[in-house]
Amino acid sequence: MRLSVVFAVLTLTGSAFAADFTFKPAGTLVSGSGTGRVDAKIYAPGMRFPIEKAPAYANSQVWGHGGSSGPGGGQCDTENFSYPWWDNYCETRSWSMPLCPAGKGHQGQDIRAATCTKNVHATVATTDGKITSIGTYSVYLTGNDGTVYRYLHMGSLAVSTGQTVKKGQLMGKVSNEFGGTPTTTHLHFDLEQNVSGIGKVFVPPYTSLVQAYQTLLGPTVAKLDAKLVSQGSSAEVDPSGKADYRVCAGDSFHFWFELENTGSVTWTDSGGAGDGQAVRLGVVGSGNDPFTSSNRVSLKESANPEVVPGGGDCSDQPKCRRAVFSKTPGIAGKAPGTPGVYESRWRLVDELKAWFGPEVALSFDVVDCGGDGAAGSAGAGGSAGSAGAGGVIDGGASGGAGGGQKTHVLKDDAGDCSCRVPARRSGFSGWVLLGLGLAFFRRRHSTSPGSSQSRRS
Ligand SMILES: [Zn+2]
Repeated sequence: MRLSVVFAVLTLTGSAFAADFTFKPAGTLVSGSGTGRVDAKIYAPGMRFPIEKAPAYANSQVWGHGGSSGPGGGQCDTENFSYPWWDNYCETRSWSMPLCPAGKGHQGQDIRAATCTKNVHATVATTDGKITSIGTYSVYLTGNDGTVYRYLHMGSLAVSTGQTVKKGQLMGKVSNEFGGTPTTTHLHFDLEQNVSGIGKVFVPPYTSLVQAYQTLLGPTVAKLDAKLVSQGSSAEVDPSGKADYRVCAGDSFHFWFELENTGSVTWTDSGGAGDGQAVRLGVVGSGNDPFTSSNRVSLKESANPEVVPGGGDCSDQPKCRRAVFSKTPGIAGKAPGTPGVYESRWRLVDELKAWFGPEVALSFDVVDCGGDGAAGSAGAGGSAGSAGAGGVIDGGASGGAGGGQKTHVLKDDAGDCSCRVPARRSGFSGWVLLGLGLAFFRRRHSTSPGSSQSRRS
């Protein structure tokens, strides 16, 4: 547990903590520490969290490790610096507390900062207001609405009585000041308000703290999430518009999907049991993909087998935040022998854990191109004019050997299938040119018409 917390502190951004933050409901106290007040009301809506930075841990000083009624251990025990949060507003004390079921209680909420080291973690003003009193170990901030926010046990005080402060302004540091024998290193924080029929009392601060902390953390980032950046195929863009691409029955070609890690954990396919350690592109639903005759493409088949959420803005080397499934020239496909429109539909999966990110898909119109182009009418209809226009990146990237022999290279003025546009640039090997073109395209993430689409991103 401690290891994971340390790891998170060292490597993740603040927002990443949001996915990890958990809290017990208001009024739920540690067993044996008293009876809590179940109250969902947020008494200080919109206040700023009183500790400058996350993570912070609301829990009991007395019933936690290192406390006089705790389970033993020292105050720096990892469990004290772990979620979930625990309310301790009505925890057993002798103070008069009209809002607590026992009529007595603790008055406020104890909060530990990221670590147990004192005089390191800054506290800040929850709201615009004035410092109305400073005691031996307490600072009173009175907000413009009359709410009194009390901060106890601070060191390195940065404010003085009578001073006007702005929300977020430095107040001091989380410490263990207690006017003599020190307490544990923590901030005791409470709220005083006028409650009709009762008068000025300590009101529950827990729900206000939860709200303020969630604001500090920012939007929740899922551990596993992704977005589609681009996709494409070596096949010809379908001029009829029936599908994304058009291929001849039985032909080999390639296609690919570029996905970005927008979650909070790194993707690998190391086979580990942790989150994101068995990431593959999987066929949605049962059965195999019609072109690959398989249902998985491992991340290991990508040029970037380690996709880091905060990584570089790239996709073709480890620790980038994007990966192309799969590495150049792409996922190898072979068109079925039966004409028709086929869809290749995929989604990322962390094997045995969860599917995540968007579904991605490409459709291919598989047409009968005949033996050598003579019977070119099949499926292609009257689309002759557009065939071949635009210099479509060709299937030649399929690894070359025999490619020109096996595929149906048709004259693109033949008015038929044009499933393969011959490379006609004199003096160059078309295959080499096209291969380079594809590599260049990928590096630049440009959107060469006819070779990629990003409309589903
Ligand atoms: Zn306290």
